[in-house]
Amino acid sequence: MRVIVLGAGVVGTASAYFLQQLGHEVTVIDRQAVPGAETSFANGGQISVSHAEPWANPSAPLKVLSWLGKEDAPLLFRLRADMRQWLWGLQFLRECTPARTRHNIHQIVQLGTYSRAVLRELREQLGLQYDQRTQGILHFYTSEREFECALGPAEQMRALGCERQVVSAEEAIRIEPALAAMREQLAGATFTAEDESGDAHLFTRELARAAEAAGARWRMGCHITALRETGGRIDHVEITNEEGRYERVQADAYVLALGSHSPLLAQPLGISLPIYPAKGYSVTLPVRDAALAYQTSLTDDEFKLVFSRYTRPAQGGQEARDVLRVAGTAELNGYSRALSEVRCAAIVRRVAQLFPGAADTAAAQYWSGLRPATPSNVPLIGRTRVSNLFLNTGHGTLGWTHACGSGRSIARIVSGLAPELDFAFCGPRGAGATLQPAQLPV
Ligand SMILES: Cc1cc2nc3c(=O)[nH]c(=O)nc-3n(C[C@H](O)[C@H](O)[C@H](O)COP(=O)(O)OP(=O)(O)OC[C@H]3O[C@@H](n4cnc5c(N)ncnc54)[C@H](O)[C@@H]3O)c2cc1C
Repeated sequence: MRVIVLGAGVVGTASAYFLQQLGHEVTVIDRQAVPGAETSFANGGQISVSHAEPWANPSAPLKVLSWLGKEDAPLLFRLRADMRQWLWGLQFLRECTPARTRHNIHQIVQLGTYSRAVLRELREQLGLQYDQRTQGILHFYTSEREFECALGPAEQMRALGCERQVVSAEEAIRIEPALAAMREQLAGATFTAEDESGDAHLFTRELARAAEAAGARWRMGCHITALRETGGRIDHVEITNEEGRYERVQADAYVLALGSHSPLLAQPLGISLPIYPAKGYSVTLPVRDAALAYQTSLTDDEFKLVFSRYTRPAQGGQEARDVLRVAGTAELNGYSRALSEVRCAAIVRRVAQLFPGAADTAAAQYWSGLRPATPSNVPLIGRTRVSNLFLNTGHGTLGWTHACGSGRSIARIVSGLAPELDFAFCGPRGAGATLQPAQLPV
């Protein structure tokens, strides 16, 4: 079959790779010059099955209210005259009940565990190098109350097979000695030895090369302007091509993987996707004193930040060097990627507070990206009412963690094969699906 993958982020690229492996003739279309150049570019780097508790949980409504108007709040709704934002907010509230939270954690852990295993398999088969570290993820808490609130979800995750172990402050410092400086503030921690980290952009580029070598075609620098439907099927896609000309592109099947831009292309078909952009920030800092910088990937519950460390290999006469990637916070404010100085400064301040002297803060590089957030943080993978249009989008805070499993699953669904995973795949003929109204594209 001829399949067009719309979008070359980490999710579209993984979809393309697995579709190619299943024998399809694959073309990937993206407006950027290289794969993985938008939200998959400089994210937090964590492959975190253990980070399965969605933003929408029973404690969220009060917290979000108390953060309204606070410029440096971890999750900031900037209320706008934007119907999509308000609708998304209402759906988010509906996902905050204990029952919905448990359901969503279940989905997220299932997909995460499968996806991490697929990533490992790919890494071994293809020899991929993307500054990966396989030292686990340590999630630390500086508030007793928050730590106690985390124990229930951690127990649910363990019951689902994610080995997220509760550890004492001493044990946390043994795992990551760089935390010793903040011993007095540590209320507790959890450690998931099987979790990993790595650079999502490098991975996407490497996987795209492997897919290309296997025959997939990449059309970069092409702006997708419309999907055209005739008789319940997508007939063609309209693009402004590499030369700036209008062009129609046709295939037998289409996979929508445009991240936070997916709803904009689906809406004219009458398919309403509950995805809203949630802007996040990252800061990349050169390591100044290797002994003071963390080695293990970390999650800071209080500031909702994640920390990864990358060792950039020696290149062009430059020695190998380590950098720290610190990312997080969320701002729901439309499609603007403008950097807020206050939010950037808050991240750098936290790095300096936790790991004094570890990083060269004067050389910090700032970035922002738009997470394709669903109210439940469960992505939309599967079919739509348009018979040859498939979804692989809405991966929110965990698109890097979920990319490989989502890619392999959508490739199987497009091919008419059952996915290898029990998950709430969406659409009229989703396999193993318990469709939830918030997730069912209509
Ligand atoms: C600050 C931050 C930290 C994060 N940390 C982590 C983490 O630690 N672990 C984790 O698992 N996830 C993390 N994430 C989430 C993760 O980065 C995303 O979920 C993931 O990158 C989404 O991938 P995607 O392929 O769906 O979207 P994208 O990477 O945005 O890809 C979509 C592609 O579609 C293309 N496109 C869009 N519209 C058009 C158009 N009209 N025409 C042509 N092309 C178009 C874009 O160019 C882009 O390449 C983080 C996100 C942020 C912002």
